[in-house]
Amino acid sequence: MNHIPFNKPYLGGKELWYISQAHAKGQLAGDGSYTKHCQLWLERRVGCRKALLTHSCTAALEMAAILADIRPGDEVIMPSYTFVSTANAFVVRGGVPVFVDIRPDTLNLDESKVEEAITPRTRAIVPVHYAGVSCEMDVIMEIAKRYNLLVIEDAAQGILSSYKGRPLGSIGHLGTFSFHETKNIISGEGGALLINDPELVERAEIIREKGTDRSKFFRGQVDKYTWVDIGSSYLPGEIIAAFLMAQIEEAENIISRRLRIWDRYHRAFAALESQGRVRLPIIPDSCGHNAHMYYLLLQSLKDREIFIELMKEREIQCVFHYVPLHTSPQGQAVSRVDGRLEVTEDLANRLVRLPLWLGLEEHQDRVIDAVAGSLRLGS
Ligand SMILES: *Cc1c(COP(=O)(O)O)cnc(C)c1O
Repeated sequence: MNHIPFNKPYLGGKELWYISQAHAKGQLAGDGSYTKHCQLWLERRVGCRKALLTHSCTAALEMAAILADIRPGDEVIMPSYTFVSTANAFVVRGGVPVFVDIRPDTLNLDESKVEEAITPRTRAIVPVHYAGVSCEMDVIMEIAKRYNLLVIEDAAQGILSSYKGRPLGSIGHLGTFSFHETKNIISGEGGALLINDPELVERAEIIREKGTDRSKFFRGQVDKYTWVDIGSSYLPGEIIAAFLMAQIEEAENIISRRLRIWDRYHRAFAALESQGRVRLPIIPDSCGHNAHMYYLLLQSLKDREIFIELMKEREIQCVFHYVPLHTSPQGQAVSRVDGRLEVTEDLANRLVRLPLWLGLEEHQDRVIDAVAGSLRLGS
């Protein structure tokens, strides 16, 4: 392989077989046996009360915003250093994202800045587990309890990661996963809503089924189904669920292989870090991570531009990540910033992500050599 891409979706091998089974059974709409299997697996493995497959993590976040009863003007505390959907899901309900700064070590929501951002309009906190490394959930849950707020974990990148031994997505009142092809476990597009608060389960099923009590009908709890609430069509068809099932069966294997790649980068770059040339990811002792991402923090925006260019000359694709949402046109129009987002603005400019996908193993030395070479040339 000459060109090394940033991402390459992994296919376990059984995806097409399971899709053909769904096809043969004539089970194509949502909530068939593959959906049920995937949901059951998530419930057991994550330990959530209920898991519901969705079209995407974005859709799961939108469901969470409805469940949180976000009304126009209600505030939702979150980092600015995140994907647009974390904020947009609430904005479509009229909610106002309130951005607080991130921690310099994990790049996660700085829990020490959450309390001062709370106002009488605050309804929810959305911790985003960046790179599959957990936020400081004990502190966030304690604040939420004191102020009677809902916690919605954006665990899009966090499947099978943990915090103090507890799987991500099982800690907040609600959690969301993404199965987008850039994530660890994929179905092309796809996601899940994880519900831990038992009081939200029934309404979540209704919202996902176009505002009807159709799920109850299928369980024989009502004799006909009807329109009872707002909602939309958030459920994926069985073709997607069949694909996901094949991936889920390999989840532990996929993540342990990713961890080996991650660890090899981490060992290889330790010397560069001790020379002060880069900063490597920091994983707190309380966090078990899933090797979703390997990034480097360089010295400046300029250094990053040069680095990406030098890697490109070596045919290795490296990419930066989020442009902080508070600096975007839509972010400025509909959100509020609490305090100064100094860490966000600084680190967002200096972070670069390296290729990490299954199959990279045989090319990884080339990436490692290129990183060392590019850093030497670039400074
Ligand atoms: C990928 C991602 C999303 C969106 O996931 P989709 O499944 O593409 O909707 C949301 N939040 C974060 C933090 C993500 O990384």
